[in-house]
Amino acid sequence: MAEILNKCPICGGRLEYSVLMQFTKDYQIKLNGKLAKNSRNSDVSPMECGFISCITCDFHTNCDLECEENHNIKIYQEDGVYMYEDER
Ligand SMILES: [Zn+2]
Repeated sequence: MAEILNKCPICGGRLEYSVLMQFTKDYQIKLNGKLAKNSRNSDVSPMECGFISCITCDFHTNCDLECEENHNIKIYQEDGVYMYEDER
């Protein structure tokens, strides 16, 4: 039966959704072909990738919301709501 994923399916603890972010460090290439010492950071941008983890136990998903250690827990999003089915 599908339930709203508002707590950890394993221990009942709180869940977090972590968005992976990325930025680049940009170095100018100097006239001598070497990289300049100074760099600047590009804007931080999300990688369209995130995972859910429990702050209490080691329950976590990968970026496809698959539970690697608990394959019988299916997590998906429906109208922006995280749902899960526990087929254990
Ligand atoms: Zn947990």
